Amino acid sequence: MTSVPITDVPTSGNAARLPQERRVVTEIPGPRSRELQARRAAAVPPGVGSVLPVYVTDAGGGVVVDADGNSLIDFGSGIAVTNVGNANPRVVERVRDQAGRFTHTCFMVTPYESYVAVCEALNRLTPGDHEKRSFLVNSGAEAVENAVKIARYATGRQAVVVFDHGYHGRTLLTMTLTAKNMPYKQGFGPYAPEVYRMPLAYPFRWPTGPENAGPEAAAQAVDQITKQIGADNVAAVVIEPIAGEGGFIEPAPGFLPAIAEFCEANGIVFIADEVQTGFARTGDLFACEHEGVVPDIVTTAKGIAGGLPLAGVTGRAEIMDRVHGGGLGGTYGGNPLACEAALAVLEEIERDDLTGRARRIGEIMLPRLRAMAERHPAVGDVRGRGAMIAIELVRPGTKEPDPALTAEIARRCHAAGLLVLTAGTYGNVLRFLPPLVIPEHLLDEGLTILEEAFAA
Ligand SMILES: *Cc1c(COP(=O)(O)O)cnc(C)c1O
Repeated sequence: MTSVPITDVPTSGNAARLPQERRVVTEIPGPRSRELQARRAAAVPPGVGSVLPVYVTDAGGGVVVDADGNSLIDFGSGIAVTNVGNANPRVVERVRDQAGRFTHTCFMVTPYESYVAVCEALNRLTPGDHEKRSFLVNSGAEAVENAVKIARYATGRQAVVVFDHGYHGRTLLTMTLTAKNMPYKQGFGPYAPEVYRMPLAYPFRWPTGPENAGPEAAAQAVDQITKQIGADNVAAVVIEPIAGEGGFIEPAPGFLPAIAEFCEANGIVFIADEVQTGFARTGDLFACEHEGVVPDIVTTAKGIAGGLPLAGVTGRAEIMDRVHGGGLGGTYGGNPLACEAALAVLEEIERDDLTGRARRIGEIMLPRLRAMAERHPAVGDVRGRGAMIAIELVRPGTKEPDPALTAEIARRCHAAGLLVLTAGTYGNVLRFLPPLVIPEHLLDEGLTILEEAFAA
């Protein structure tokens, strides 16, 4: 049953061109996708995986269309990237116009206005009204890596503190910051030095209960930092305000503010990795706003540019301005097409109140999922904010993770034409990241498919 009445937002551009409907006309993947998958196997190493190897020809609004003509409901947004919708018409228009003027100069060689405008916007929109500076790179990992470089430079310290279930990327430093061994780290060592991991306030799995998770985890982290590293040796704490790949774990209330306060009291740079949570996804523009936490540095990527590769590092002017000239940069960082896309994304978020849309998506999804949890004891936890929602699957009556059931439910959803992603340290989380512009009838239908997958 739907407890929130469903209404559809108007669609335009690509979304209007593509019928906003689920349509399954072949097996999934179909024959054409299977053919492409065979070609790929001979050309691409298997280390690069795909959640669902249907080969895409079009996408927009709430659907992804494949080479066999199937139209899938999109609960993934390319991992929280196409928040404003795929091929969003205003993004396309600005990118197309820019592509006709120049595609690259390298900002470090001859600069251009759109880069500056994106940085101004990031400085204005990220939490806190202190003076800020931003610069642009290509990926989330590159943003996190640069944030750590800057924190080390500014503090003259080396240690970096991260948390259980954290994910920060796949480069040497960021895979070291990442918690989960398989598949991100296995066999890729040795890892970067001076990285220390602390407990995260994971409400569902905190041994003394969710209500104690915030204060107890914060106290443990502070104790371990003080006793094992020494607060004076810590350059930065890097944390996701909601752990993404780790399973959409919202730290228990009070945890983030306590860690931020400890950082402030000890001259430690507090880096919020908002790569997955940013740009309206959680119902706020940035997830830190939920508890009024003001980070010293914020890293952004994924949702920033509607699918074009772009990432940002935004921080307090007095930290960012320390690094010597030429110490930061990169050939493609802040590519002009990506900057134009980012400016369009920011306009879209404001014009269409996409933070409000994200909250509404949560209001539609959470009651349905909670009702499912009551019927199916395998659903151990339902959680998330805005349009960043997940369920954690366990063996009924226990908290023992059930990754096999999780994979089976995902498989059934895929076969029925609903694209869902899995996540979690234990591989037992189904995560839902619909585009914020998804028509509500598709959201509704997607939830019904999920219910049917559980019923089966
Ligand atoms: C995806 C992600 C990254 C890495 O971003 P890439 O663009 O894949 O390098 C870093 N941090 C978080 C929280 C992420 O979700």
